[in-house]
Formats: sequence, structure tokens, C-alpha cells
Amino acid sequence: MAFTPMIQQYLSIKKNYEDAFLFFRLGDFYEMFFEDAKLAVKELEITLTSRDGGDKERIPMCGVPYHSADHYIQRLIEKGYKVAICEQVEDPKEAKGVVKREVIQVITPGTVMNESSLQPKQNNFIAAISMQSNRTFSLAVVDMTTGEAKATANLNERQVIQEILAFECREIVMSTTMDEPFVQTLKQQAFFALSYEDQEEVPASLGNLLAHSTEPAIQRTFGKLLNYLNRTQKRSLDHLQPLEVYAVHETMRLNEQSRRNLELVATIRGNHKKGSLLWLLDHTMTAMGGRRLKTWIEKPLINEAAILERSSVVETFITHFFERETLREKLKEIYDLERLVGRISFGNVNARELIQLKQSLAQIPEVKEILRSMNQQTLKDLVKDIDPCEDIHTLVNQAIIEDPPISITEGGMIKDGYNQTLDDYRYVSRNGKTWLAELEKSERVATGIKSLKIGYNKVFGYYIEVTKANLKFLPEGRYERKQTLTNAERYVTPELKEKEKMILEAEEKTVDLEYELFQEVRKKIKAHGERLQKLARIISNIDVLQSLATVSDENNYVKPHFSHARTIHLTNSRHPVVEKVLPSGTFVANDLSMDTSCDVLLITGPNMGGKSTAMRQVALSAIMAQMGCFVPADEAVLPIFDQIFTRIGAADDLVSGQSTFMVEMAEAKEAITEATDQSLILLDEIGRGTSTYDGIAIARAIVEYIHSQVKAKTLFSTHYHELTALEQVLERLRNVHVGAIEEEGKVVFSHKVLEGAADKSYGIHVAELAELPHEVITRANVILADLEGGVMAANGGQPVGSDPQNADPIIHETSVVPDQEKTSTEQLTFFVAPSEPSEEKQDK
Ligand code: ADP
Repeated sequence: MAFTPMIQQYLSIKKNYEDAFLFFRLGDFYEMFFEDAKLAVKELEITLTSRDGGDKERIPMCGVPYHSADHYIQRLIEKGYKVAICEQVEDPKEAKGVVKREVIQVITPGTVMNESSLQPKQNNFIAAISMQSNRTFSLAVVDMTTGEAKATANLNERQVIQEILAFECREIVMSTTMDEPFVQTLKQQAFFALSYEDQEEVPASLGNLLAHSTEPAIQRTFGKLLNYLNRTQKRSLDHLQPLEVYAVHETMRLNEQSRRNLELVATIRGNHKKGSLLWLLDHTMTAMGGRRLKTWIEKPLINEAAILERSSVVETFITHFFERETLREKLKEIYDLERLVGRISFGNVNARELIQLKQSLAQIPEVKEILRSMNQQTLKDLVKDIDPCEDIHTLVNQAIIEDPPISITEGGMIKDGYNQTLDDYRYVSRNGKTWLAELEKSERVATGIKSLKIGYNKVFGYYIEVTKANLKFLPEGRYERKQTLTNAERYVTPELKEKEKMILEAEEKTVDLEYELFQEVRKKIKAHGERLQKLARIISNIDVLQSLATVSDENNYVKPHFSHARTIHLTNSRHPVVEKVLPSGTFVANDLSMDTSCDVLLITGPNMGGKSTAMRQVALSAIMAQMGCFVPADEAVLPIFDQIFTRIGAADDLVSGQSTFMVEMAEAKEAITEATDQSLILLDEIGRGTSTYDGIAIARAIVEYIHSQVKAKTLFSTHYHELTALEQVLERLRNVHVGAIEEEGKVVFSHKVLEGAADKSYGIHVAELAELPHEVITRANVILADLEGGVMAANGGQPVGSDPQNADPIIHETSVVPDQEKTSTEQLTFFVAPSEPSEEKQDK
């Protein structure tokens, strides 16, 4: 048996949208059938029904009302699905057979424009990637809501994944032939909606987006993305901004681990914004500023002049407190211009949003004035570039009433005086009632019939009613009979008919004309989209700069100086976030210095002593400095780093086994193979994930390699006290330690970073403080002395207890390491007389 024509139509459309829910418009509902229906029922918690589709089995079906569909679409999009909206595209009354239907748009996680699906301070990027024959990748991203478009090429596999993660893309478009192992790797990183597109030719109508001559690989990838957007959105992409081509090495490179470890935009635990650097620095007043700040954090600058330009504006904002506060007040009144332009161009803006646009533009002249008043060169240049778009302000001001309704189809949006015809219609409908009352009066006078009245009913419209008793007073000719009642007759006159027509038409026409005028205004503004986007860009930059100034001012940060001799010199340095979350005044500031004679700082000291905090604060200070921000210190000299690498163990590394160690090694490998002498490396407890001697050996080899080959500025924290002996052989390695003191029988961490290595027996001190049996402490001291002597008799003294199983001579703070290996005597000598690697000699 065959399906009914409608189901056949459904199936023929559905086959082109296999990867989306097909919302099939049937009257006031969007219906879903077959597998779509079964899945939608689960995902949306709606009721499954069925319908006869011509076949012997009934077809599973479910539906959502058309007027509340947005909410359901949003839920599906959030879960990573796509929704194809299929509408009736002809009037059912005129249809022969089944009403014609077409998909008018496919809404996807990367293209959603609906405000309720978007975070104000977050971009919504969709990416396209392609792989060249030499296994390099190119990437293009677009934010449909703001019109931003960026692309880059020549990335390796890790880099392309890092970029995708940094942009937080929700959807990735690729060829159907994309390398499968790569797709699998990608899928393991995060949850993306995957989409396919094989067309790569940039559509002719969008060729202008490639403003500058662009690499072929980038053109193809961007072309792929544009084709996908055209195919799914089926509407103008006019609001896209010219493609910005960038290279990853133009800004400081931060890999995914470093972004995470340094908690740049989210905390490691819980993935919250609160507690991240972004959270700390975000005093932006506009949504666009919030989004811009995030990109500044993720891509700190490496061009000194550009950094200084930013930091000098920040400085100016800091010294002009009053002006800054006024500026912040003004910025607060500015809506999300970028997304407004997006919606204006994409065709789903309402009159209220145009009022938001007007209110935003109204702030610009004063913003310019405030900036000008600060008399600073960069700001002066910026002011010159600010186009206040007064014409657009005027247009909206003349056309749209102050408090318009949300709907654009029911009138009540356009101001009086904007359009003569509209004014006439309104005059008629507003004055219709008065006019009728006057007509009634004049007819009474003309006829002498005092009881004559004018009325209205739905069937006959306006009429003049005369009682039967008064009919004789009615003159001949002008009055045309319409309706007869028991004791009255109803008439119309040509005059009344004409007015009636005008009144009724006026009301209907008002609504239509208002819609038309609104669209006209929208179109006029749309034509100026580029000007508004440029304005939005400048405003967002100003907003970020004032945000950085506000944070710097509130927390007493200092303007950094940049060293060309790769010197780090931080006086009273703090970790900006930890300082903020600890009770005020309790964070212990530290001096951290690495001059030309020091490339590796080896940090020892007890667990919880503050090693990792000290390391991170150096990295965060560098990032803040290169963003143009001030840094949490009293004095700051920093190199400009090309990259920052971090290997910082999470607490759970301790309990999980080999695979974590493998990750640790892979991260260390990336750091030491990709870092340059202009990079910063943080290695926290490297080697901790394996047995003690293994760990020490690897840690030492890595330190030596960095010292002799990589020469990156490196902060290396370790439990392995043995490594401190390296200071004697590695010229540019220096020992520091974090202190712990005893106070009323308890260990108290001073959190002070001090010169030299930690006291080697601090572990035993702590054990003593914890009141371990005296026997254990004494025994530990004996073993320690043996270890220091480099000799350990196989039966060295009497072991603790009588069980020979416990005779493991090693008591380290790291004894929590799983599967700790038994150690031979030869291995022990390893640390005592560190062998000098041959490169070291050349180094000196
Ligand atoms: P480690 O790496 O030595 O184990 P952490 O750097 O993780 O130690 O610090 C442990 C805790 O001590 C942190 O969570 C923080 O609250 C606190 N802390 C670290 N450094 C300081 C400091 N300079 N001032 C005050 N508290 C600190």
C-alpha cells in the first residue's frame, strides 16, 4: 500500500534533511513523523500519537504548537540537534491537491539567532575546517549573531583543535570525505554538532568578504562555510563582516592545557566563569565588551607597540577616575549593537530593538566627549574614528514611538508626523467617531427629526435610523434604504458610505502601512550595517580597556615594563584571583625574580606551601601584561612571551595510574619541543605520576634539557629534594623554596618564596609535628642520613617493625605514588653526584 500524498511529500522533503528534525507545518502545528517523532517525544517530553498515513501501520507522530515552537526548537538546539523548519508556501485555499511545502531555514547550534539561546557575553561560532594534502588544516569561523568572520591556515592537528576549543564552536562543518581518525579525535575533545558541506566555491554575491587576496586554502574553507550557511539559512548573509585572516603566531600561543590550567575563562573544577581570570577582569558594561575581553584573554598580544598602546589607555583611564565613572555610566546604556545589526540584517528585529539602537546611539556623542577630554593620543585617534551614526539615530527617532509593542504586525509602532498617508488614516479612524456625532447633529437639523440617530452593525455597517412615525419628514433622493425593522427604517447616504469606507479601511491600512514603513526603516538601517559594526567594534574595545583599568585601579596593580633581556622581576607579586577570593589582606605577596643569569627556577617546599600558586601568578601576570592590563605587583618587569606552556597536575593525578602519567609526559613533550627561548614553561611536580626514581630521573633529564636546549624561562616545582643539587651543575638554575614554620605545635605555611632549597628534612619535621611515633621519626632520620651518604646497606640497620616487607628504605613525601618500585643501591647514587651533561660545558 502507498502512503497518502501528504506523507509522500513529507518523505521527499525529509530525505534532504536526514540529520535534522523536520518540523512539518500542518495548520497551527509543526508535526514530526516516524523516527523524528519517537526521538522528539523523548527529548521534549511531549506525547506520542499516530496517524493514518495510507499504509497498514499507523505512523508515529507528535507535534508542537506553532506559536510556542521557539521554546521547543531552543531545547533541541541546546542538545546539539538541528531543526529544519518546513512551512506551507502557498495559500491552502488556492492549492490543488497537497499544499506546497518547503524548508525555509535549518536552525543549528552554530547558526541559532534566537536571543534566548544565546549568552550575551559569549560568541556563538560555527567553524568550517578542511585538511590539505600535507595534513595541514585550515579553519574558518563565523558568528552569525555578530557577523564576525575569521580564518587561518597551516595549522597542525593539535592547533586546529585548540583553535576550535578556544572559539568554543558549537558546530563544525567539514567535507564528507574528512579524515575519519581526525573526526574521532575531534569528537573526544568536546561536544560539537558535526555538519557536512562539499561545495567550496565562495558564492559570487559574497566575494566582497574576501577583501584582501587570500590564500587558496582559506578561501576554500571559508567558501565551504558560506555555502553551508547559504544552504541552511536561505537568506541574505549581508551582515557578515569582511573576513579577518590571522595566524596563530601573531599572538601569544596558549594551548588548551594552559588555558585550562591557568583557569583563563573557566575554573578547572566545575567549569565556572566565577573564579577564572575572565571573571576577575570582567568589569565590562556592554555585552560586546564582555565578548571582546574573552578574546583578549585568549589571545594576548606579542607586539610591544600594540601592547603599549593598550596599556597607555588603561593608564589614562586609571588616572581619570571621574571620567571613567561617567564613561561607564554611558556604556551601561549601550545595547548589544553587534547583535542588533545581525538581527536587523537577518530580518528578525522588532521596533523595540530599534529603540534600543536609538538609545545606544544617543550615548555616542557624550562618549566621544569624555574620551576627548582625557587628552591622550590613542584616545584622540580613536575618537576620530567614531562615527556616531546620527542619521540612523534621527531616522529611528522620527519613525518609531518610544515604547512600541513587540509585535511588528499589529501597528502602534510608527510615530505621528512620519508619513502623511499614515497620518491621514489615523486622523480618519481617530476622528471617525466625532465626525459621525456631528453628522447625526446636522442630519437632525436638516430633517427636523430629533430622534434620528447614527448607528453601526456588522452586517450593514454605518446607518441612519429613523422611526416609522418620522419617515414622512425624510426628504426624497439622498437616503437609500438598507434595512427595515418593526418600527424603524435604516438608511445610508453617499456621504455616510464614503466615510464608512474610509474609517474601516483606515484601520486596516494603518496596520499594513505601519508594517511597510517599519520594513523600510529596517532596510535603510541595514544599508548602514557596516558603519554600525565598526562603531560596535570601537565601543567594545573601549569597554574592555575601561574594564582593565577598573580592575587594575581597584586592586592596586602596576603598569608592567617589558624587558628585552628576558628578565622577570616582580616585587610583591600576587595571584590575582587567589588574592581576590581569600579574605582581604591575607594573601602573602612574593618577590619573584629571574634575571639574565637565571632561566630555571626550581621551587621546593611542602605540599600546600604555595608553589603552584606562585608559578601560576607569574604566568597570569604575563598574560595580563600582554593583554595591555596592569599586573598584580608593586613593580613588574616581564619579557614578552611568545608562548606559555603549563604542566600542572590535577589532584586526581595522584590516584589514577599510567594513563595519567602518559598525559603528563605528552604535555611535557609538547612544552619542551615547542617552546623557544622566548617562552614561559610551568612544570608542576613533573614525574610525580610514576615511581620515585623513575620520576626523579625524568624530572632531572627534562630540567637539563630545558636548561641546555630550550632555554625558555621555566618555573619547576618539585617534591624531589634531590633535584636541588642541580644548582651546582646547571649554571642558570636557581633554587627557591616556600617556607613552612611551626607555630604552637602546628605546621603553618608562610607562603613566602625564599632563596635557596627547602630544608631537606622538612618532611620529617612535619611527621614529627603530626606526632608520629618517636620510633618512626628516629628511623626516618637514620634513613635520610644514609640516603645523603649515598650508601644504603641492603640490610642497613634495623628496619622499623619486624616485617621485612616494610624495609623499603625510601621515605619521601611522594610515597603516595602508586606501585612504588623497590630501589637498588646503584640508583641511589644517581643524585648525589649528578653527572654533568656535555652540553652544559658548552653552555658555560
Ligand atoms: P602547593 O603547590 O605548594 O601544593 P598551592 O600553591 O596549591 O600549594 O597552595 C595551596 C593553598 O595555599 C592555596 O589553595 C592557597 O589558598 C594558599 N596559598 C598559596 N599561596 C598563597 C599566598 N601567597 N598567600 C596566601 N595563601 C596562599
